[in-house]
Amino acid sequence: MPDQLTAVVARWTLLPSPSGGVEAAEDVTVLVRGNRVEDVVRGRVVEADRRIELPHGVVLPGFVNLHNHALNGPVFRGIVDDVGAGTPGGVAADAIVYGLLLPLGDLASEVLTDDELRAVYRLAVLELLRSGTTSVLDMPRAQHHGFLDAASELGLRLFAAPYIFSTPSRGLDDRGRPRYDDIDEDASLAAALAVADRYDEGPGGRTRVGFGPHATDTCSPRLLRRIAALAAERDTFVTIHVAQSRNEVERVRARHGRTPVEYLHDTGLLGPRTVVAHGVYVEDGDLDLLRDSGTTLAHCPLTFARSGVTVAFERFHRAGVRTGIGTDAYRFDHFGELRAAGLIAKLTSGDGAVADAPTLLAAATSTGGAALGGHTGRIEPGRLADLIGVDLSAPHLQPVRDPLRNLVWNATPADVAFVMADGRMVVDGGTVAGCDERRVVDEAAAAVDRLWHAAEAAGVLPPIERTPA
Ligand SMILES: [Zn+2]
Repeated sequence: MPDQLTAVVARWTLLPSPSGGVEAAEDVTVLVRGNRVEDVVRGRVVEADRRIELPHGVVLPGFVNLHNHALNGPVFRGIVDDVGAGTPGGVAADAIVYGLLLPLGDLASEVLTDDELRAVYRLAVLELLRSGTTSVLDMPRAQHHGFLDAASELGLRLFAAPYIFSTPSRGLDDRGRPRYDDIDEDASLAAALAVADRYDEGPGGRTRVGFGPHATDTCSPRLLRRIAALAAERDTFVTIHVAQSRNEVERVRARHGRTPVEYLHDTGLLGPRTVVAHGVYVEDGDLDLLRDSGTTLAHCPLTFARSGVTVAFERFHRAGVRTGIGTDAYRFDHFGELRAAGLIAKLTSGDGAVADAPTLLAAATSTGGAALGGHTGRIEPGRLADLIGVDLSAPHLQPVRDPLRNLVWNATPADVAFVMADGRMVVDGGTVAGCDERRVVDEAAAAVDRLWHAAEAAGVLPPIERTPA
């Protein structure tokens, strides 16, 4: 019904503030027609075809998750927790990407059928949507088309950046260092372009495909220069891991005499259409390059905290770097990630006032939306209608003196009352519309268990005792 007018009325609505941040406005109606916000008006609008009311809650733009690996959430659940260099099957924080994440991701591609992969991706999409995420920038393997199908089917706006490599690392050598294998980078790029040719819907579309060169130590200068040119030509985005381990920093320094960020600058990859993930080991001069080029940094604190590594939102924010939030390959709970970002920033700065609720909410919405083309992330006329409603009536959210503080510091995904994406209700009453959630969970769990058995047989994971079902 493209002409149907929907009025969304909540006690509070998160709107852009005159100072450039966000604020909670009372007595506001958001009018949605088709897939766009038509108007934002003061007071209650009586004339509408449909009304969505949240008398004790907040309506805000859907969260924009700026860095994610949907496959890895379910696949690594319970595997990457409580491990370090000395635990069985564990690897040091610096080697986790090379020694565990990439090898098990490769194995998933080899072992799982297309149907099984689609089942695992569906599970990830359920978790993302139910946590209030309406847009996700994700780096899947190029052959995992099931992810793009699952996101489209369930209503998640997907910015897919298929992995591209020159030298992927497949496991570690005897000294615990990555083994870089030369592959045909042109074939890797061609596989990503084939995904774009098939799925990319262009600016404002529900599915966009960009470029996902894996990292600065696994991609050659030639490849990065080609990607920079192609991204401009195709009017799309690029995302890449940057300074996520000391190993990466040392390798790039040894090969190119540059920091990872300087290397991206040299190859033409920094800019407003690029999202760099992590930046844990960036130097102060790198922050200037990121800020001055308009590059966005995706901050994912929990994935590092679990390995004992500190990375603080405040460092990037204070330097003026556009900083958004991602959940990476861990839990897809955007509330939990925001809270971790805030707490770690306060701990490292020794100042409880930094990374406050409005700042974190702006990072999770408008900053992410701006990085991905500016069609989402703010509630204002003309933007795509990606909205979430969070009910603040539960005991852990009452009473309300400051709705934004309650939202960031006390809410959980279970408090998400509805999710509207592209003008469609995709989560209503806490469940994903048109989806047999129990079946999705069971099918995905069975697929991942089969992968875990294969990983144990291949020596990628330590074997565990299983109780017969
Ligand atoms: Zn990542």
